[in-house]
Amino acid sequence: MTQRCFVVTGASSGLGEHFARRLAAEGHRVVMVARSGDRLERIAAEIRAAGGQAEYAVVDVTDADSVAAGFDGIEGRIDVLVNNAGISNNEPALQTTADNFDRVIDTNLKGVFLSAQAAARRMQGTGGAIVNVASILGLRVAGNVAAYAASKAAVVQLTRALALEWARHGIRVNALCPGYIETPLNSAFFATEAGQALIRRIPQRRLGRLADLDEPLRLLCSDNATYVTGAILAVDGGHLVSSL
Ligand code: NAD
Repeated sequence: MTQRCFVVTGASSGLGEHFARRLAAEGHRVVMVARSGDRLERIAAEIRAAGGQAEYAVVDVTDADSVAAGFDGIEGRIDVLVNNAGISNNEPALQTTADNFDRVIDTNLKGVFLSAQAAARRMQGTGGAIVNVASILGLRVAGNVAAYAASKAAVVQLTRALALEWARHGIRVNALCPGYIETPLNSAFFATEAGQALIRRIPQRRLGRLADLDEPLRLLCSDNATYVTGAILAVDGGHLVSSL
């Protein structure tokens, strides 16, 4: 595969860290973005020690100046943005404060927009691919995640709007909608009775693994998929088509 430059936001843990490590192992140059320089430095050092190419930028995606400075600091061409930074909130809508609602929307929607815009400004003229990480909760709902679900539904629609506007610049914009993926942060919940009950509602009767996202991400980023834009790809073991 030709070496390309991938910018991965939210690369200091979970899905983003996994994507950064995998892309670097495949020989790509990876620029990792998150708020925590210490964690990014440690991951970048491990990638470099394994022979990969990794850099990082400390950026708060909710802050337009921080995003602009972070992207300005990336040298050379940016081929792909994996727009993954996001936060969850799990609380009843009646108890969600205005601050908490803002925090979720600022990170999951404004942060995705600002990062996509900064990347697209660099891709104008050369083209590129942007993959927004949404969620199946952007397409269906569950209890106690109103702000999160609304933010992810907005990311789905933002993806379509940006795909429309930026097609003329050779920039493809697609969304990946993971189902429930097991990570160190949520494994304790999935061991509980409530977690096990949730797993039984997934048609494939299992959680997703980080590696389940690899091929779908590869497809959306691939230079062989140049006619794919504005697509919303669920990777969820059939959770979205579970029986009503
Ligand atoms: P995580 O908490 O492990 O990672 C989130 C990353 O985003 C971290 O690197 C964090 O530092 C970064 N981040 C958060 N706020 C930021 C900010 N303001 N500026 C810069 N970076 C910021 O979570 P995860 O489970 O790996 O989730 C990654 C993405 O995948 C999120 O968008 C999430 O909504 C989505 N997702 C996750 C799952 C799942 O099951 N884990 C399912 C569907 C969608």
